[in-house]
Amino acid sequence: MRVFPGSKDNGAAVPENFADAGPDAWGEATKLVRGGLERSQFGETSEALYLNSGFVYPDAETAAARFAGDDDGYVYSRYGNPTVSMFEERLRLLEGAEACYGTASGMAAVFTSLACQLTAGDHIVASRALFGSCFQIVTNILPRFGVTFELVDGKDLDAWKTALVPGTKCVFVETPSNPTLEIIDLAAVCEMAHKVGARVVIDNVFATPVLQKPLDYGADIIVYSGTKHIDGQGRCLGGAILSTEEFKEKELKPMIRHTGPSLSPFNAWVLLKGLETLKLRVNAQSRSALTIAEALQSVPDVAEVIYPHLDTHPQAGLARAQMGEGGTVVTFIIDGGREQAFDILRRLTIVDISNNLGDSKSLITHPASTTHRNIGEEERARVGIGEGMLRLSVGLEETDDLIADLTQAIGEAA
Ligand SMILES: *Cc1c(COP(=O)(O)O)cnc(C)c1O
Repeated sequence: MRVFPGSKDNGAAVPENFADAGPDAWGEATKLVRGGLERSQFGETSEALYLNSGFVYPDAETAAARFAGDDDGYVYSRYGNPTVSMFEERLRLLEGAEACYGTASGMAAVFTSLACQLTAGDHIVASRALFGSCFQIVTNILPRFGVTFELVDGKDLDAWKTALVPGTKCVFVETPSNPTLEIIDLAAVCEMAHKVGARVVIDNVFATPVLQKPLDYGADIIVYSGTKHIDGQGRCLGGAILSTEEFKEKELKPMIRHTGPSLSPFNAWVLLKGLETLKLRVNAQSRSALTIAEALQSVPDVAEVIYPHLDTHPQAGLARAQMGEGGTVVTFIIDGGREQAFDILRRLTIVDISNNLGDSKSLITHPASTTHRNIGEEERARVGIGEGMLRLSVGLEETDDLIADLTQAIGEAA
């Protein structure tokens, strides 16, 4: 499915005809800085921001040709915009997908990628440990349109096997999961899903396109919240859907054009510039996260540290095989309950209290009272989110400063 299965990052050789091979043959760092760049007649160094809603035509014939689909020039920014196109092409190159569609937010990407292919009577199977709003889409919103669902423990391959039946149209998976950082075996789930004719949609936000390549395991559609690591600096919302060209043209495009979850040119420009440093940031944040996870293991009052690449993670082997690094999020559980958790948050001097993640600033949240409040106590218990759980999104500050801040806050907390 990938246009170019190997990039230099995956060990593929530099092609002999480098000049002819084009951007698909570039290494990731090059794709992220130069991919999709379309300069205007003014020759600007940085990507231009086309902050416009509509487009004009040189003559009525051209307008007619564009509406007929015979001329692929721009028509209206709900349909497409040059700055949005540059973002889509850059992310497409990084993912190695055939096509990419920018969306207004991560949730717009999740909902549209599912809604464009599901109709009343269809069945969807999803992993139980989902981002709060993804859980609402699968269990509340899609069922209002006649889509039935089943949730499974994503780690349990037997549960997937039982849940996937002929007639299952779609599978929705998040790995690592939020905030428990469970790992789902993408190759195994994709294989089982394809056997019953279901398509697999992966929410790859936590892993990022730098650390995990779902297409290599057979995923059909990948969704991102650009709001997280892709912007990575807390500035704007955005999202993206990556797929085959056929899915984009036949299913996604009609849905997006007529329902309007389009990405704004300004936000696309911010995300485009964010992509330039994505790999540097994600690699640095992941290295820092691993060091912090290791340090937290020996802090008194910390009962458990969850991080995909720690030896103590129950799926460390799978996490190492599937993800280049362990990611930028560390989850830990303290002995005391909510009171102690809140006291730790109060005492932190660098790390901010925020439910966002993937930011250059380190952010911490208490999932039980914030991001996972809505799913209710019973569901929280089922996915293992207790009152002593804290989710830390590791930023770009000095690792030693973050360890010192966390250690003092945990040490002083009642
Ligand atoms: C944040 C997030 C989303 C939603 O993205 P928005 O840009 O906030 O709409 C979806 N899935 C995961 C895993 C997320 O972390």
